[in-house]
Amino acid sequence: MVDVTVLGAGAFGLSVAWACLQRGAKVRVIDPYGVGAGSSGGVVGALAPHTPENWNDKKEFQFQSLIMAEAFWADVEETGGVSSGYGRTGRLQPVLNGRGLELARARQETSGALWRGQAKWRVISEEDAGPWAPHSPTGFLIHDTLSARMHPRMACASLAAAIQGKGGEITKEAPHEGQVVWATGWQGLVSLSQDMGRMVGNGVKGQAALLRLDRPDLPQLFADSVHVVPHVDGTVAIGTTSEREFDNPTSTDAQIDAVLERAFAAVPALKNAEVIERWAGVRPRAKSRAPMLGRHPLREGAFIANGGFKIGFGMAPKVGAVMADLILDGVDTIPDDFRPEASL
Ligand SMILES: Cc1cc2nc3c(=O)[nH]c(=O)nc-3n(C[C@H](O)[C@H](O)[C@H](O)COP(=O)(O)OP(=O)(O)OC[C@H]3O[C@@H](n4cnc5c(N)ncnc54)[C@H](O)[C@@H]3O)c2cc1C
Repeated sequence: MVDVTVLGAGAFGLSVAWACLQRGAKVRVIDPYGVGAGSSGGVVGALAPHTPENWNDKKEFQFQSLIMAEAFWADVEETGGVSSGYGRTGRLQPVLNGRGLELARARQETSGALWRGQAKWRVISEEDAGPWAPHSPTGFLIHDTLSARMHPRMACASLAAAIQGKGGEITKEAPHEGQVVWATGWQGLVSLSQDMGRMVGNGVKGQAALLRLDRPDLPQLFADSVHVVPHVDGTVAIGTTSEREFDNPTSTDAQIDAVLERAFAAVPALKNAEVIERWAGVRPRAKSRAPMLGRHPLREGAFIANGGFKIGFGMAPKVGAVMADLILDGVDTIPDDFRPEASL
């Protein structure tokens, strides 16, 4: 008999399972499609912060999660012996105009207190940013040291190995025993909407690509709305599209080619790199756009961990922690905006 059954082996389900195991619970993860079969089995993996201003619960939660991430992934890797591709390599973003520069400098001031000296948000010159940086019309870029990267597919394998290394079970089919956690991604939000008779969440498709280019220690870039994420394994991820309407959740098409063109135009260093993979997945988006965490709105006694949307991996360490508090100890520290009620 297990204490906790987690349905869904994506970033949220695996993080909840891992947090429960670490607190001594007996855990089983069930996913009929396997580990990382959903949105989490992708390639981008930018763990990037919200801007350090107008602070709120969502920003604080994400900040704490990003700060927790280093120890979280180190522990996961040590237990399972599999790399997650995590590294706190920072991020560079061009500043587009005078107003942007004013804002960036104001945020440099507020970041000191809001990020509590644990990371820096600085305005630097194009010259100081070096040849990897995208061109900036103002001659200035924002460099932050809070942003990190991990490789989503590797991170899922890393978490799965850690869970199994600590005695947890991962299987395609088994009875639901003990406390049950629904971490079933966008399909879970669609079926919850059907069961409730109204839209409480859905899926937003995203396409990404992977280049062969070995720049593991360089910062990720955000330029012309494109993410450029150098990974530990000699690849660089480029993303993404955002598609509310789609027929095929896993197909790629000309939209990712357009994103690639923008990346090549913004970052000359990418131009001759070979495109080795195009990938698509569907992000789980709750109606509130925030994560949906807490007691399941329809299933008596069960829990829900969903709605990671565009920053599910960044949120995952803290999501695991607050869900384990609730499931195992009945201690509820979930921000109000993250409760299922925010989308119902
Ligand atoms: C192109 C793209 C780029 C992204 N880039 C980033 C990024 O840079 N940084 C970031 O933080 N996030 C990013 N995200 C978002 C991130 O991937 C998601 O927020 C995260 O993967 C959500 O994890 P999840 O576990 O909730 O969902 P999923 O990974 O979709 O997992 C849900 C799992 O539930 C399983 N399942 C479904 N129904 C059942 C059932 N009935 N029983 C059991 N299992 C079931 C599915 O097989 C699936 O494995 C990106 C997403 C996409 C698509």
